[in-house]
Amino acid sequence: MWSGVLVSLSLSAAETPKQAAIIASKPTLVSIVAKPKFESRDQFTYLVIGDTNRNYEIVWSVSTNAPHVQISLDTNRVYTFTVAQTSGRNIDILELHSVVSDDQAIYDIEVCEVHKTKMAHKEVPIIYGLVKQPVGEPSIDIQRKSFPHHREYSLGGCVITDDNPKTEKRYVCSECKNAYANWKMFPPISK
Ligand SMILES: [Zn+2]
Repeated sequence: MWSGVLVSLSLSAAETPKQAAIIASKPTLVSIVAKPKFESRDQFTYLVIGDTNRNYEIVWSVSTNAPHVQISLDTNRVYTFTVAQTSGRNIDILELHSVVSDDQAIYDIEVCEVHKTKMAHKEVPIIYGLVKQPVGEPSIDIQRKSFPHHREYSLGGCVITDDNPKTEKRYVCSECKNAYANWKMFPPISK
């Protein structure tokens, strides 16, 4: 049986599934040695990993957006996946924590993929409602390529209820913050 559905993606549209309000609890880390599989259903592509005891499916990408985890996985290779599992109200929240290939960490949720620095895990406010791309702000694409972890708030989607959480933990990279500040100071001239 499937153990749950993941959430926690880093950028904009990809953040909507977070509406499944998270009850604060410490995640359990589970390691699985497996070949990755990918399955597409509705607008989601799932990373499916399992061993004899369990099977996890983790949202890999949403519709045509680029995957939030920017690594490529070979479906013929065996990796060691570490999954963080947090109990939510209705479902368990699964998040890819790290991927190791041949003793090399190829993904670590705590490390900025652009700056290769270890990030701070900060409590940040969650902003609800439809957030439009403000004028004078970098596009999602620019953010992803140059400073993916600069934001010190999360987007909670459009479904607002009284008991939505107000804050959550998010990884923030100080070098991403610098790069974003620099972009704001000297935005590239658009044609
Ligand atoms: Zn960074």
